[in-house]
Amino acid sequence: DPRIARISSAIRVIPDFPKPGIMFQDITTLLLDTKAFKDTIDLFVERYRDKNISVVAGVEARGFIFGPPIALAIGAKFVPMRKPNKLPGEVISEEYSLEYGTDKMEMHVGAVEAGEHALVIDDLIATGGTLCAAVKLLGKRVGVHVVECACVIELLGLKGRERLGDRPLFVLVNST
Ligand code: 5GP
Repeated sequence: DPRIARISSAIRVIPDFPKPGIMFQDITTLLLDTKAFKDTIDLFVERYRDKNISVVAGVEARGFIFGPPIALAIGAKFVPMRKPNKLPGEVISEEYSLEYGTDKMEMHVGAVEAGEHALVIDDLIATGGTLCAAVKLLGKRVGVHVVECACVIELLGLKGRERLGDRPLFVLVNST
């Protein structure tokens, strides 16, 4: 798709952020390019409209940028998957491992019901730990059918796709 090249070049790479040796993929410059940002949303909408998806689950923080416009366009609700102690209501949570230590992801009880069909969205997949936690929360814990995970960027080489197992993953841009 000819739109992918523009999206790819609108993503800025910042070396040594947040720590030395990391090449940070910065999607804020994609948001400044009105055509590339619209193309990004359109590509997801084209893929997921008419797929019977009732919920778009966005992972904090940048899943909150891409998720809502997709949800509105396909007629689905948006559910935030948040870092611990941010959601005010009753939550269910899933712990997951990071490079050093663990983190937790939380979702409001009652936001989704068993049997619903969900799309999980984030800006980027690296090791896949974050998306795995989201899929576990929705799938194993609540009984939601996760149709697919979607990201703007896949960092190749960290085997995040393998960690997701047979759960389908759709990305727009690959990066090394
Ligand atoms: P994973 O759990 O797959 O190792 O890491 C993915 C999570 O870390 C995502 O929520 C993503 O937003 C964040 N992340 C890790 N590296 C980068 C990066 O280079 N750029 C951006 N935008 N997010 C990153």
